[in-house]
Amino acid sequence: MAYRIIETCTACGLCLPECPIDAISPGDPIFVIDDTCCDFEDCLAVCPVNAIVLLDEAK
Ligand code: SF4
Ligand code: SF4
Repeated sequence: MAYRIIETCTACGLCLPECPIDAISPGDPIFVIDDTCCDFEDCLAVCPVNAIVLLDEAK
């Protein structure tokens, strides 16, 4: 299981420092989560627009 960031991301950057393995990076136009994401879920709580979702739910 892994998470990804959907289109509602506002690129606020709040999630960036929360990921313990640096799986999040600034993208254009929205932030992206790479394949190393492994469910620490530290990033989920800080996203003001709930743009971080389980990969399965994003399909
Ligand atoms: S779920 Fe965990 S590993 Fe994946 S991007 Fe968020 S904090 Fe990083
Ligand atoms: S906290 Fe949410 S809105 Fe902000 S950059 Fe991360 S995914 Fe995008």
